[in-house]
Order: sequence, then C-alpha cells, then structure tokens
Amino acid sequence: MPQKPRRIPMRKCVGCREMQPKGSLIRVVRSPQGEVSVDLSGKKAGRGAYCCCREDCFRKAIKQKQLEHALVTGLTEDVKEELIHIIKEIIATKESKA
Ligand SMILES: [Zn+2]
Repeated sequence: MPQKPRRIPMRKCVGCREMQPKGSLIRVVRSPQGEVSVDLSGKKAGRGAYCCCREDCFRKAIKQKQLEHALVTGLTEDVKEELIHIIKEIIATKESKA
C-alpha cells in the first residue's frame, strides 16, 4: 500500500493574506440563499472565506472589503457587526480553553 503524504490543508486568510492551516482559521460562508454566517463545522455549503482567529485580522478583512470580495457578496453594517460579535465570542472561548 503506497502511503499518502500527509498534507495539512492550507488556506489564505482574507485579512493578512497569510497561508495558515485550515483548522486554525475561521470559515465564513455565504449560503446558496445568500445568507452569510460563521461556519464552525467547516462543512456548510456555499462560498467560503477564511480568516485567522484574530479580531484585528477579521476587522481588516471587513474594512478593506476582502471578505466581501472573497464571498462575492455585499455585507450590510448589521451583518458586519454580527460577524465581528461572533468572532469575538469564538476568540474568547478559545482563550478561556487555552
Ligand atoms: Zn490573518
């Protein structure tokens, strides 16, 4: 049996544009219905964008419209606020576990 090389899937952060292991990034997904949400399972259908688990990175991605560009959709202020709120909670949860 030939051994498959173990490759860690890498994705580019939409904020700092650095390549990071997929598992350490936060996936934001736009569903086929056009709804934008944070995908913690990594399995939601739709167009996804990845960002580091850092608030400044996420804010930058939103401010510079990189997130909108990656998701190929416009984001309302409400959606942006909500996303930042969710990201903050995720970061807080991760930090409390560390
Ligand atoms: Zn980043």
